[in-house]
Amino acid sequence: MQLPANMQAMVLEGSKKPLVLKTVPLPSLSRGQVLIKTTACGVCRTDLHIIDGELAHPKLPLIPGHEIIGVVASVGTEVTNLKEGDFVGVPWLGYTCGKCRYCLRGQENLCSNAVFTGYTIDGGYAEYAMAHEQYCFPLPVTYANANGAPLLCGGLIGYRSYSMIPADALNIGIYGFGAAAHILIQVAIYHGKKIFAFTRDGDKVAQMFALQLGAGWAGGSSQSPPEKLDAAIIFAPVGGLVPKALQDVDKGGTVICGGIHMSDIPSFPYHILWEERIIRSVANLTREDGEAFFKIAPEVPVTTEIKTYSLRQANEALEDLRNGTLHGAAVLVVD
Ligand SMILES: [Zn+2]
Ligand SMILES: [Zn+2]
Repeated sequence: MQLPANMQAMVLEGSKKPLVLKTVPLPSLSRGQVLIKTTACGVCRTDLHIIDGELAHPKLPLIPGHEIIGVVASVGTEVTNLKEGDFVGVPWLGYTCGKCRYCLRGQENLCSNAVFTGYTIDGGYAEYAMAHEQYCFPLPVTYANANGAPLLCGGLIGYRSYSMIPADALNIGIYGFGAAAHILIQVAIYHGKKIFAFTRDGDKVAQMFALQLGAGWAGGSSQSPPEKLDAAIIFAPVGGLVPKALQDVDKGGTVICGGIHMSDIPSFPYHILWEERIIRSVANLTREDGEAFFKIAPEVPVTTEIKTYSLRQANEALEDLRNGTLHGAAVLVVD
């Protein structure tokens, strides 16, 4: 494939600044790395947390974006599994060391030396992106387009959060009905679960969206569900939802915090945690999560609702996400 010397990218130059369209050199490849011609890149809430300075020490200047769909355009040395023309997805987990105590005990999501796509290395808000071969997911053709992009983070993190709740949990609350929730609800319903969707109070459009996707009940986050929940998954970055969800779950219930950042959790009386309720967070993903998710997604089959933007409209997409006006996921389509 004939490659240009330069590419267009949306670049973050400092926290709390809008992204700037720039012409930059194509990434160079080292051992085990591939160059991907970007087809599409999802816009995730984590990108907002990085831009707003809520996640410390991003690479700067940075090309954000960690839900990359593309085609392998060239391969570095010692690349064994991928070849030019392969469709791949690139997630948040960009590389792990394989040697630290977390990697050695199968928790590569907690690797001390991990690199993260679109955070500590450049991501997919660009015409091309570099990725480590071993961390790319080969994609079926059905997902090798803009509709597949939200699966790479919203889908994967949602699925990891879901896999942390007991398999026999039936009534599941989802707090925050955005990109991750609209994917996860399809998997959960496929498994016969009953979904209770909590949105911002008064957001009838999001509640209707949840009901259309098969939720058994949808309401505002200050409302009580009509039945006790066995488990709750919180995607909204709102700490106040933790004590609320604890009150909504039954004895022995589990509350999962699926986001990378959340506002402070207010203090709460011990009795709402008592009776063996559990709170836990979910961090990043493992490649095993990805393999499991990309196996089940076509079986369901998971579909996504997206709003597309051009690469140069990245700031607009981020603002729409910030303002909560999206129902589904924002995706940049790269020509
Ligand atoms: Zn490690
Ligand atoms: Zn993300």
